Amino acid sequence: MELRKGISLLKGSPNTLIVGRYVIDPGNPAERAAEILKAVGGRPTVLLTHHHADHLSAVPDGAEVYAPWGEEILVSNTRARLFFTHGFYVPDALYVGRDLAVAGLVRPGDRVENIEVVDLRGHTFGHVGYLVEGVLYAGDAIFGDMVLKRYGVPYLNDVDLFLASLDRIESLEPETLVMGHGPVAGSKKRVKELVEVNRSAVERSVKLVESMLPGEPTEIAVKVLKELDAERSWENVLLTSVIVRAVLTKLAAEGKAHPDEEGRWRIGNLR
Ligand SMILES: [Zn+2]
Repeated sequence: MELRKGISLLKGSPNTLIVGRYVIDPGNPAERAAEILKAVGGRPTVLLTHHHADHLSAVPDGAEVYAPWGEEILVSNTRARLFFTHGFYVPDALYVGRDLAVAGLVRPGDRVENIEVVDLRGHTFGHVGYLVEGVLYAGDAIFGDMVLKRYGVPYLNDVDLFLASLDRIESLEPETLVMGHGPVAGSKKRVKELVEVNRSAVERSVKLVESMLPGEPTEIAVKVLKELDAERSWENVLLTSVIVRAVLTKLAAEGKAHPDEEGRWRIGNLR
């Protein structure tokens, strides 16, 4: 689907944006690589928003891969990626990907021809977006309604950075917003609505985690998923416990919660 002249969208979960020879987040499964090569018609240069395996499983062989600054080890090393994503090294995870050679790094503020690299950290610590001719590819810095409903809480490593990135998406006022997972938003009004829905989901996650203290992170994750009636596979429990840890980090920084000697988190300030 052509969004602008020379900018096309390959639908999927995640979606892939193709800008000339540049491929932003090839996605998955690995077989998608053939479709990407056909669309580009030559050796592609891959620009990644972040290290998650579902965004990079379809990197075509021989492609030049650019990773966001700070995430290169997680892009290049599958074990490190799995360990960091779940908090455990889980070989039978849904998305594994493979080791990739990283040709170079992109940082917020960089320009790659007409593509601007935008700081959209929070989902992961190095997450970036790509802005080209009014089209913002925001990766997993913002989610579609269906994704939020299915998983209950938005996956993030840092609550405040995620919220700041939502503000940034809104202030950039993209004419077209392409998310990793969800339908394309084609108006500023729709972008604003999506930002609002995501912001509420994050704020709800923080309140929910706080309301379930005292507890241990995985135990809290299960309670949160039950409360929201969200998908409760082992994988989603592990992913959610990462979000719980991000929320507990925020609460600890604000002096609202602390871990005790049993590894359980409690309300209140340790100091
Ligand atoms: Zn992701």
